[in-house]
Amino acid sequence: MEKLNALKGFKDLLPGESEKWEWVASAVRKTFHAFGFSPIRTPILERTRLFTRSIGETTDIVEKEMYTFEDWDGKPVTLRPEGTASVVRAFLEHRHQILALPAKFYYQGPMFRHERPQAGRLRQFHQVGAEIIGEIDPEQDVELLSLLSYFFQRIGISDLTLEINSLGCTVCRPPYRAALQGYFGAQLDTLCEDCNRRFHQNPLRILDCKKESCKAITTDAPASANHLCQECDAHFKAVQEGLSSLKLPFVISKHLVRGLDYYTKTAFEMTTQNLGAQNAVAAGGRYDGLVEALGGASTPAIGFAMGMERLMQLLPESDIRYSALQLFIVPLGEAAHQHVFPVLYDLRRKNIRSEIGKSGAALKKQMKQADRLNAAFVLIVGEQEMEMGKAVLRNMKTKEQVEIELFNLLEGVIAQISP
Ligand code: ATP
Ligand code: MG
Repeated sequence: MEKLNALKGFKDLLPGESEKWEWVASAVRKTFHAFGFSPIRTPILERTRLFTRSIGETTDIVEKEMYTFEDWDGKPVTLRPEGTASVVRAFLEHRHQILALPAKFYYQGPMFRHERPQAGRLRQFHQVGAEIIGEIDPEQDVELLSLLSYFFQRIGISDLTLEINSLGCTVCRPPYRAALQGYFGAQLDTLCEDCNRRFHQNPLRILDCKKESCKAITTDAPASANHLCQECDAHFKAVQEGLSSLKLPFVISKHLVRGLDYYTKTAFEMTTQNLGAQNAVAAGGRYDGLVEALGGASTPAIGFAMGMERLMQLLPESDIRYSALQLFIVPLGEAAHQHVFPVLYDLRRKNIRSEIGKSGAALKKQMKQADRLNAAFVLIVGEQEMEMGKAVLRNMKTKEQVEIELFNLLEGVIAQISP
């Protein structure tokens, strides 16, 4: 029979790894909360049109990566490939409930893209993202970038570079596009097939091509920052000054573009040297045109998304100790078992992760089980201990043992094992 394994590019998340994810998710909640963001959850399935319209017909995602199929009624639907389009859709759909602008949302969840699976590239992957909708002030860009920088610092990931650029706006983008076409026009023979197509449709995307031959040509291409209108130029400078005022390091990456069409002005990536070819851990930018493109009033916005899988690869191992068992109870004999079984329930209700051995098993066997579960403490209750009215609590690390009165077992144990 054919094995019923998970699909290619789809991954199970098992204990050992899944606790790390929970730990990061909880750091996300605390940090994003402090920066004034509220959680939002949008559906995983949306109308296909939402993504084609917002992400853009000529992007990799829409051209070849979407999980699109017909719903039972024949309507085209798509598993979301990214989060921003859905957040903006929800913002517009519930606009009347949102009293204060800017609205600040964050999300965590799965995204789906039919890419070639490889290291750091899955078909179902997970993103954490944040969006600020309704404010043009460059200070918002700085706030968002300060959140991104601080978050990585908080979870212990260093060695990241914040790369920023400005992509201009509807005023200065067309002349920049023309400048790019002027530059690449002389090199069409050397550019790849995809880039030849991009040349006509969306020449900015040539700058994002991953092929070495195209990258080489790109080196001397015109930079968008040199083609900015006065407003975009002032905005870009204000962002840089704001970052400096918070002492946040950054570099200007003159050919940084985003794959998605709706970006304007500030674009950025958090990159690392430690992940090989897939070097972006987080990416984002301003998308002042998107809300209007989706049918709302003209509303500026900015956001980012970070890839959980890539972030996980960078997370230092040493900080993660939360899956260990706090207490393993070793009852020896039925009487001991009856006495401590209710205590197990009490301990768990006090948030102490605990397990109990099989009372029929020998001490040695139960201790082995405690070791396997990586228990920090073991509570031994044998026949002798029952007679003396005392149990023995052993610190598995220091090997120190203390006696605890049976009549006050719960409090006695908690007093010893709570840090
Ligand atoms: P790339 O240039 O690496 O394809 P992208 O421009 O498609 O990136 P975004 O759409 O900006 O990426 O997504 C933001 C982040 O989500 C990326 O920086 C990365 O960490 C993560 N990400 C994107 N696609 C995948 C994937 N297929 N598998 C795992 N993580 C991904
Ligand atoms: Mg991609």
